[in-house]
Amino acid sequence: MSLPLFEDPSVTRESLYIDGKWSTGATGAYFDVTNPATGDVLASVASGQASDVQNAIDAAERAFPGFATLTAYQRADFLHTAHRLMLERADDLAVLMTMEQGKPLKAARTEVKYAADFLIWFAEEAKRVYGSTIPSARPDQRFLALRQPVGVVAAVTPWNYPISMITRKVAPAFAAGCPVVLKPAKNTPLTAIAVFKIFEDAGIPAGVANLVTTQSARSFSETVFASKAVRKIAFTGSTDVGKLLAKEAASTVKRVSLELGGHAPFIVFEDADPVHAAKGATLVKFLNTGQACISPNRIFVHRSIAEKFIETLVARTSKLQPGNGLEPSSGVGPLIDAPSLDRMQRQVDDATSKGATIAVGGRRLTGDKFDQGYFYAPTILTGVTPDMEIYREETFGPVAAVTIFDEESEVIEMANDTDYGLASYVYTRDLSRALRVTEKLNFGMVGINDINPTSAAAPFGGVKESGLGREGAAEGINEYLDTKLVGISI
Ligand code: NAD
Repeated sequence: MSLPLFEDPSVTRESLYIDGKWSTGATGAYFDVTNPATGDVLASVASGQASDVQNAIDAAERAFPGFATLTAYQRADFLHTAHRLMLERADDLAVLMTMEQGKPLKAARTEVKYAADFLIWFAEEAKRVYGSTIPSARPDQRFLALRQPVGVVAAVTPWNYPISMITRKVAPAFAAGCPVVLKPAKNTPLTAIAVFKIFEDAGIPAGVANLVTTQSARSFSETVFASKAVRKIAFTGSTDVGKLLAKEAASTVKRVSLELGGHAPFIVFEDADPVHAAKGATLVKFLNTGQACISPNRIFVHRSIAEKFIETLVARTSKLQPGNGLEPSSGVGPLIDAPSLDRMQRQVDDATSKGATIAVGGRRLTGDKFDQGYFYAPTILTGVTPDMEIYREETFGPVAAVTIFDEESEVIEMANDTDYGLASYVYTRDLSRALRVTEKLNFGMVGINDINPTSAAAPFGGVKESGLGREGAAEGINEYLDTKLVGISI
């Protein structure tokens, strides 16, 4: 099947977009992009080197003063145009994303819509970058607080949400007046190229939107860290890499926002409807083949309703159809790569060796439909205990771990017993309990009888080792603004 949006596959080799021009980069090195469902090589893209990253930073630095002094309305116009173009190209973008990332086409379409939402939401938010006036203790003095763009932004995005993680950063950066140099994950550069073609077609000035595809994450980050021009790092990815970036950013005191890993608890209290809760758990657990930072990794169900809940969870999970995301029947796509398959098997083997039971799944899928891809059976493990790896480690795959609890205080303690603090879920019909538990959960987001607490208009982010800062909402643009205090004697 030919690649949508790239009439000539060789075009993908000119995948660096720097200072308004597409190129193959300094050394002419390339890397392949493969389809995780079939193993097919889809395209070859340029592997940018340190000098390419430096050129992109220089271009962004030159573009910054002009872009920052455009009116908010002018910057909003670019974002509105990009939003329109993204929706016009939505079908092709979704197919492209399914081909390089694996998610079912329906989920890819939903993600394109979500990605486009950030463009339009921040187009409007650009016009609401308000400063303030502050009373002074001196009668002859006035204070103003201005909010100004931080400067050049280096953004790094993961492969699991290849399009929305880009717009969730770039839209608020552009709205605030900041140029961006972005490095996408090496598994999903094609979607990133297609997004930057949208920025080009939207007329975003040269040097404001820069894309460096590369196989060498280190040459990107080392060049970024050596540069005083880059004032802000916006990162989504694993906690380990986030910590490394935060440490390096300290040497030139760059602003940092980090959207990192999660290990979400999904708590089902005795007063919840176990069938409704199990349907919700299945939907959100296997979304993106479990490769989501907000995926429920630890499912806690009250003993009194555990049987009905697990029965429904297992029945719904058994009905899921893994397969190539381009086929309409596929409800769950492949994992991204072979190490992910190994991680699933290791976590499952470790859990069963310590007493967990496989209620469904528990193995790599084989057979004609699966052999060339990275398919793992949607899996439910019951009897999961704190000594198991799956209880501690981010799962990032289609394995749901179920633990039974008896007391509210006990389950809050178990839920909080992790270094992560991104999403959490609570199923209850008791309003007092919902609020009481929400206040005690050490997580950045809580879904109450709700499996999708996300929107461009809502602040997304974690506490503890799940990150710093928020994306989306008014908080999202603050990450790209500095405050300048003005004292005026009158
Ligand atoms: P990863 O940390 O391996 O990679 C993320 C990005 O960082 C990629 O572009 C990668 O090339 C880059 N990178 C890796 N090492 C780097 C270095 N030394 N310098 C600069 N860049 C470097 O993560 P991943 O496997 O792509 O994504 C999965 C992780 O992302 C999971 O932990 C998941 O929970 C997390 N995630 C978090 C959110 C969120 O909003 N909190 C959203 C999606 C994914």
